[in-house]
Amino acid sequence: MAARLIDGRAAAQEVRARVAQEVERFRAATGRAPGLATVLVGEDPASAVYVRSKGKATREAGMESVSHNLSADIGEAELLALVDQLNRDPAIDGILVQLPLPGHIDSAKVIAAIDPAKDVDGFHPINAGKLAIGAADALVPCTPFGCLYLLKQELGSLSGLDAVVIGRSNIVGKPMAMLLLGESCTVTIAHSRTKDLPAVVRRADIVVAAVGRPEMVKGDWLKSSATVIDVGINRVDAGEGKTRLVGDVAFDDAQKVAGAITPVPGGVGPMTIAMLLRNTLVAAHRREGLAEPA
Ligand code: NDP
Repeated sequence: MAARLIDGRAAAQEVRARVAQEVERFRAATGRAPGLATVLVGEDPASAVYVRSKGKATREAGMESVSHNLSADIGEAELLALVDQLNRDPAIDGILVQLPLPGHIDSAKVIAAIDPAKDVDGFHPINAGKLAIGAADALVPCTPFGCLYLLKQELGSLSGLDAVVIGRSNIVGKPMAMLLLGESCTVTIAHSRTKDLPAVVRRADIVVAAVGRPEMVKGDWLKSSATVIDVGINRVDAGEGKTRLVGDVAFDDAQKVAGAITPVPGGVGPMTIAMLLRNTLVAAHRREGLAEPA
């Protein structure tokens, strides 16, 4: 039997609609809308597309969107000065510095300069630490937060399930593993040095693939009825000068074995922006001392 498709577009729409309602309530209580500032350095086309769609989604949710587009040769000090200005701006609740930054800028330093209370990407060491110790007020990185949303929607309680996260980046793999641990899964983090990855994956009730290698995870690596979350976004040659997007999981074969699976596109991707809006809403409530929306 073919796996159920986990519809990230529909789930993201639900989250965004709820955020929009809560924005109205926030506006009624405070007389202002939550504000998200995006900072883009340089002209990387993919980053520019991401930042534009984040701005559009922010406005669609009824929030204020402020975008700072800086030239690629801006100095680190100037960028840090902008972050400082945004930290102090009362109308700004969330700050998103689009990564990657050009090589002459120390990304870690820039991320560490963001006020943790406005760090809606959840990359600041304070938020990473809070997530690791299970603090309720961590701002959680948007992509893994979106994956968790889909998993809970699909499975309900995750307690006691075996989860394998493939990838250990700070923006996806590690926070994903922390979130799953927080849900009482038994978590394995696999990476490029993992021995016998197929055998590791075969144990898993939940597989989260965040590798960046097209269709690396094969159908016969999966336990029957596993729930598969494919974070990968890989552009591959589709012949005749065209390209197409594929995930890190060999979808057609995996679908024959898995219980449920996210497609690429239309799975995890849309959730990332939805959770960014949610984080901005939550940050705004905290800054105003209001009870957090459910
Ligand atoms: P990184 O390149 O930072 O991390 C990739 C991870 O995969 C590393 O931990 C690496 O291991 C591991 N890896 C690489 N090769 C193998 C292998 N052969 N076997 C096992 N593990 C391997 O990527 P990101 O975490 O930033 O992103 C992962 C994917 O998710 C990408 O395709 C990216 O485009 C996508 N993505 C999608 C988002 C969305 O909104 N849907 C958002 C963010 C990312 P090691 O540490 O040992 O090198």
